[in-house]
This record gives sequence, C-alpha cells and structure tokens, in this order.
Amino acid sequence: MADPDCIFCKILAGELPATIVDEDERTIAFMDIAPATRGHALVVPRVHTVDLLSVEPEDLRAVADAARRLAGRAKDRLSADGVNLLNSCGSAAWQTVFHFHIHVIPRYDGDPLRLPWVPSPGDQADIAAAAQELAGR
Ligand code: 5GP
Ligand code: ZN
Repeated sequence: MADPDCIFCKILAGELPATIVDEDERTIAFMDIAPATRGHALVVPRVHTVDLLSVEPEDLRAVADAARRLAGRAKDRLSADGVNLLNSCGSAAWQTVFHFHIHVIPRYDGDPLRLPWVPSPGDQADIAAAAQELAGR
C-alpha cells in the first residue's frame, strides 16, 4: 500500500513532518513546502498510487472533493480571489513526486503567477487531426 521511497507516504505515516490542513477517510491535505502563493496546499490519497492514470476512481473522487473543499476555504478564509487546481501527470508534465496529488493554489489579484503557455491561434488541420485521435473510445 505504501511505497517506502515515497515522501508523501512518509508524510502519511507520520515519518516526515507536514502541516496537515484537512483529512478524511481517503485523503489528507497538507501545505506545500515551496508554495506558489500563500495557502498553496496538496491533496493526496492515503493509498499510494503514482499518478492520475493509476489512481482508483473512488480515491480520485475523494481527492477532487477535498480539493474543492480547500478551494472554498481559500476564498472564505484567505480571501483568495480565485483558485487554480493543478495536477501534473508524468515528468514531461512537471510531476516531481510520484504519489498522485492535486495542487490547490489560491490566487490573488495581481499575484505573480502566469500561464505557462502563450495563447495563440492553433493550426486548424492539426487541431482536427488530434481531435480525431482523441475522440470516442
Ligand atoms: P509536483 O511537482 O509533483 O506536481 O508537485 C510536488 C510538490 O510537492 C511540489 O510543489 C513540492 O514543493 C512539494 N513537496 C516536495 N517535497 C515536499 C515535502 O517534503 N513536503 C511538502 N509539504 N511538500 C513537498
Ligand atoms: Zn506514496
């Protein structure tokens, strides 16, 4: 169930310190050690699993519910103006800790975070081709 090399499993086991802000049967949430903004927290399932594609559906639902709970608290208690939920799946997508988690990042008007891409019109043929590959079962 736990991975002995996983830092989030060690936090879950109480072997590493963390500032826990929410817990339920399936999840815990704790403060990110290197916050992007004030109040940045991470929600993780208690059961070790690597990423979005391997997490059990019930755990995914529980993590999503907990992330929404914290997003609401960020607005109510930290006076956040908005919230980003972020999941990185795979090292190409910036994942660095391979225990599934969702970042809950409170956002404040004028904070320094920026979109990591520059929106610009895409190639219509390539959008359509990608859509054909993605669509359906
Ligand atoms: P990822 O890059 O995998 O999406 O997110 C991993 C997050 O875990 C990073 O934002 C990083 O700051 C955070 N993190 C890494 N090590 C620790 C730790 O030991 N304790 C806590 N609380 N957060 C950590
Ligand atoms: Zn783990």
